[in-house]
Amino acid sequence: MSRKEGKLFVITGPSGTGKGSICKEILKEIGNEFSVSMTTREAREGEVHGKDYFFVTEEEFRDNIEKGNFLEHASVFEHLYGTPRDMVIKQLERGRNVILDIDVQGALQVKKAMPEAILIFLLPPSLHELRRRLEGRGTDSHDVIELRLSRAVSEIKLIGEYDYYVVNDDIDKALAEVRSIMTAEKCRVPNKVNPIIKQYEQEERGE
Ligand code: 5GP
Repeated sequence: MSRKEGKLFVITGPSGTGKGSICKEILKEIGNEFSVSMTTREAREGEVHGKDYFFVTEEEFRDNIEKGNFLEHASVFEHLYGTPRDMVIKQLERGRNVILDIDVQGALQVKKAMPEAILIFLLPPSLHELRRRLEGRGTDSHDVIELRLSRAVSEIKLIGEYDYYVVNDDIDKALAEVRSIMTAEKCRVPNKVNPIIKQYEQEERGE
């Protein structure tokens, strides 16, 4: 049975929800392609250019916007982030699934450009827990944490645009739910059903 078309999964969630860990784990397990975004923010310690992000100047970023190289791009916490279009399209054409870990503005742009994309919203169990996680990371000042929390609420207001939601109160449970979504989507009847029907008709005719 031919299952050639790759699926595009977009995972969004307020910062501190555990998106990064979930995406990393899923990629390790199933070897799907993770798209490497371009950003104008500085690399953090341990981050590798071309693996975590393509770290570029604002000028380079704007040049890429002008050339139409992004599938989507957005300003997140005062830095620019964008998904290079070519890489995503190539992987999908090769029949590979692609996972994007991007913010809400970007996710909605992807849905507009590629309505077949599957949008998953990852939620924290509560704002209280999100605050606890952000404080626990110890990387953000009080003001930045307040900003992230209020941004989280504005993002959650857009959940109606998404296809699925997963509450990350337990990483193993959240992972199992994301895996199930991916499996269910693999089994979805595609728009083009002819190849499936054809295969059985050919077999029936003894070809
Ligand atoms: P960080 O700077 O912590 O790696 O990422 C900050 C936020 O930017 C996260 O919510 C992440 O999902 C989002 N992000 C990362 N890459 C992209 C991208 O290519 N496009 C958009 N729209 N958001 C992104």
